[in-house]
Amino acid sequence: MQHTSSKGLARCAICGAAETQPGTFPMVVGVGRVCLSDGMAPVKCEVCAGEVKLITSAKLQGKTLCLSDYMREIEKFRQHIVQTYDEDTEPASSILGRAYTEAPQGYTLLAVRRGRNSTHIWEAEYEKTEIFLMRCS
Ligand SMILES: [Zn+2]
Ligand SMILES: [Zn+2]
Repeated sequence: MQHTSSKGLARCAICGAAETQPGTFPMVVGVGRVCLSDGMAPVKCEVCAGEVKLITSAKLQGKTLCLSDYMREIEKFRQHIVQTYDEDTEPASSILGRAYTEAPQGYTLLAVRRGRNSTHIWEAEYEKTEIFLMRCS
């Protein structure tokens, strides 16, 4: 990651304070850039109940986790999700729109297609965004 002054100064996601120098606020996954005093604040991991500093935690689907639990949780995530929509209950154009706007958090839409052996079921396939980005870079 490159921090240049042209990118401007980050603001703390917690208190809104601005950096005095670019690149000094650490990044907390799922939270954003935080100032050092908020970064040092203790938070409780919702999995192991251990107390860690905010900068050594991560937020995943609204839960605060210590980094080791965060790593374990993201491993557990399935790499692909398929959601089905029924054209009998809504028009295809609405399905296509929803498949895109209602992507599960952290996933990227790969494709929307007709379900196998079906004339009215659509399947939307999502891939975990981290994996999607890895493949694309
Ligand atoms: Zn702050
Ligand atoms: Zn933990």
